[in-house]
Amino acid sequence: MSRVYNFSAGPAVLPTPVLAQARDELLEWDGAGASVLEISHRGREFMGIAESAERDLRDLLDIPPAYKVLFLQGGATLQFAMVPLNLLGDKHTIDVVNTGHWSKKAIAEARRFAEVNVCASSEDTNFTTVPALSEWRLDAEAAYVHYTPNETIGGVEFPWIPETGAKPLVADMSSTLLSRPLDVSRFGVIYAGAQKNVGPAGLTIVIVRDDLLGHTAPNAPSLFDYQKQADNGSMMNTAPTFSWYMAGLVFAWLKQQGGLATMAEVNQRKANKLYACIDESGGFYRNPVEPSCRSWMNVPFTLADASLDSEFLQQAGRADLVALKGHRSVGGMRASIYNAMPEAGVDALVGFMREFQRRYG
Ligand code: PMP
Repeated sequence: MSRVYNFSAGPAVLPTPVLAQARDELLEWDGAGASVLEISHRGREFMGIAESAERDLRDLLDIPPAYKVLFLQGGATLQFAMVPLNLLGDKHTIDVVNTGHWSKKAIAEARRFAEVNVCASSEDTNFTTVPALSEWRLDAEAAYVHYTPNETIGGVEFPWIPETGAKPLVADMSSTLLSRPLDVSRFGVIYAGAQKNVGPAGLTIVIVRDDLLGHTAPNAPSLFDYQKQADNGSMMNTAPTFSWYMAGLVFAWLKQQGGLATMAEVNQRKANKLYACIDESGGFYRNPVEPSCRSWMNVPFTLADASLDSEFLQQAGRADLVALKGHRSVGGMRASIYNAMPEAGVDALVGFMREFQRRYG
């Protein structure tokens, strides 16, 4: 068996010990006489798996008791709709911050249900910065404020949590959740598609403050109702059992690593090494993002000579460094370096980039 270093943005690398454990348990889960893939989501065995996954996630993020944790489907994209359906109540307007590709997706979907006030935007810097809080123009009547703490494509990350007073703050944390400790109490809703830092695709984590439950639009599908999902332990219908199980293994692995404070140290070091390689290349490689808001998880970069892109990707592939092609909307390269990317993978990438520059620079 040989595993490459996989820099995919998602579905993304999973910890090798987690995959090995899943393999070892695949035919028979812990005395159940059947695979975890084959057992009822309502049975004693799976309920145990579900509960320990939630407990470990609560431990890792230190989630206050007044928050529900939901394990849903539909990806972060469905949350672009579920958040307004659940939080608008009798209001009509929401505030949304635009920091790039995923903010725009969230805005477009929310417009189906609400008046969207784009309260701040970094479009004037081509989304290479985050807008200073002093520039945000919140609508007093807006039901909540939505932002994207980490833009997976642009590689722009907020180094601070916005203060929005009494107005609930909603965050699409798809590509940053679990990368570091987080003060959950600052948020009304946090959501994330699992397929980056949490586990396989097919699962969506939603963390929602209790007082925001119970205001769902009356004609919303029942499955979209946070309150109903919470009342039913996220099992109104058949749950995404395998993804939930795998997420539980990832949470246990994170605790074994020392939790999120340890992950933050390692993640910052990994990101610093990669950005240093880019910045010290004298323009051979370039990352356009303002240094204070560079993402720890997604590092886009371009070559000064774009005609070398395919050579770079081919040679990287031969060195077992894969999935480095940038998103089709921006081109160039992108290295996603989530929790499960070992520091040795970043060292190997940096070594490769320096050698590539020596030969072609
Ligand atoms: N938001 C962000 C920040 C993302 O990175 C992604 C996926 N790349 C999405 C939303 C969409 O997620 P999903 O595919 O789970 O709907």
